[in-house]
Amino acid sequence: MSQFKTLDDLSDINGKVALVRVDLNLPMSDGSVTDLTRAQAVAPTILELADAGAKVLLLAHFGRPKGERRSTMSTSLIKQAMESVLGREVMYISEVSGPVVEQSISIMRPGDIGLLENTRFWPGEEKNDAEFARAIAANGDFYVNDAFSAAHRAHASTEGLAHLLPAYAGRAMQKELEALDKALGNPVKPVAAVVGGAKVSTKLAVLEHLVARVDHLIIGGGMANTFLAARGVDVGKSLCEHDLAAKAEEILDAAERAGCTVHLPYDVVVAKEFAANPTSVRTCNVHEVAADEMILDVGPQATEALADVLKTCRTLVWNGPLGAFETPPFDTATVALARTAAALTREGSLVSVAGGGDTVAALNQAGVTGEFSYVSTAGGAFLEWMEGRELPGVAALQKAG
Ligand code: ADP
Ligand code: MG
Repeated sequence: MSQFKTLDDLSDINGKVALVRVDLNLPMSDGSVTDLTRAQAVAPTILELADAGAKVLLLAHFGRPKGERRSTMSTSLIKQAMESVLGREVMYISEVSGPVVEQSISIMRPGDIGLLENTRFWPGEEKNDAEFARAIAANGDFYVNDAFSAAHRAHASTEGLAHLLPAYAGRAMQKELEALDKALGNPVKPVAAVVGGAKVSTKLAVLEHLVARVDHLIIGGGMANTFLAARGVDVGKSLCEHDLAAKAEEILDAAERAGCTVHLPYDVVVAKEFAANPTSVRTCNVHEVAADEMILDVGPQATEALADVLKTCRTLVWNGPLGAFETPPFDTATVALARTAAALTREGSLVSVAGGGDTVAALNQAGVTGEFSYVSTAGGAFLEWMEGRELPGVAALQKAG
C-alpha cells in the first residue's frame, strides 16, 4: 500500500492545534439528528487527539449550502449530538478561519474540542481555493483527515490543507484504507466480487475495473438482466438496458481474456407485478421468463452455486444487492449470500469487504453488518475506489506522507 502517516507518527502534541476533517453530515429530521453512525465513526480519532492534549478543531461540511451561510445547515445544529457521542463538551465556533477562530483557540485548554462552522458556507471550500485553505491552515499546527467518505472530492478541507500542514490519516480513514487494500489493493487470492444493483450504466467503470482484478465476478440485480439479454435471453418486462448490450459483451470478453469467471444467474425469481409478496411470484430458469414477467431476484439454485464459489475464495468485495431487496421476498438471495459470506468470515476463511448505500441497508437487513471484515458507509468515495480511481483526499495524504 502506498504510504501515509497515521496518528502513530504524532508525538508531543500537547497544546498543539489539530485541524481534523471529519464526516459529520448527519441525517436530520425535524431539526434533530436521526443517526449517529458517522459521528461514532470519527469519535476514536477525536478522543485520541484530545487525550494526547491537542486542541482539536473539527472541520466538516453539512448539507449543500452552495457557498453561503444557511442557518439550517450550521454545524451548531450538530454540536449536541457530538457532545453525546464524545461524552465531552464541544465548543461551537462560528467561522473556519480568522480572528474568531484565533480567539477561540486562545481560550481553549489542551484536550478541548471545537467544532468549526460548515466549510461549505464559503465558496473557497468546493473550489479548493488556495487562499481559503491557507487561511484555515494559519490556525493549525497539523492536519488530520478522518473523512474517507469525502476523499473523492478535491476540496480545501479534504485536499488543499494536506499540502499546507503536516498531514495524517485519522483512525477511521486508516481502517478504511487498510480494509480496501486487503480487498482489492493486495488481496489474498482467489478474489470474488459481487456487483449488483439496479443498472449497468451506473457501474460500468466498476465492472471494467474489476474484470482485470478478480477471479470471480458475480453479477446480480437488475444489471444482470442487461447481461442476460446481451446473451440472447428474453428477460420479459425486467429492468434492462438493452442499449448497453454491446458494452455488456465487451465486459464479458474482457473478463474472458483476463481469466475472470463471470457468474450470471441461471434461475431467477420473477413476478408480474412489483409488490410485496405478489401472488404471481415464481422461480424459473432464465430461459422461461414470460413476456409479462419481471426478474426481481436471483433464484435459489444459482444462489447455492454462488455460495459454493465463495467457499473457494479468500477475499470478497461486494457492491450492490442481488435483487430488489427492499420488497419481500426479493431479498432472499441477497440475505442468503450475505449470510454465507458472514459465516465464512467468522470461520476465518474469507476477508469480506462491502460498501454502497443500498448494500449497507441490505446487509443490515440480513443482520450481518458486524460480521463482515469491513463495511464501508462511504457511498460515492467507495464506488470511485471500486472504479480504481485515485481519490484526491487520499492521494494528498500519501504525497504529504
Ligand atoms: P448501492 O447503493 O449499494 O450501490 P444500487 O443503488 O446500485 O446499490 O442498487 C440498489 C437498487 O437496485 C435497489 O433499490 C434494488 O431494489 C435494485 N434492484 C436490485 N435488483 C433489481 C431487479 N432485479 N430489478 C429492479 N431493481 C433491482
Ligand atoms: Mg444506491
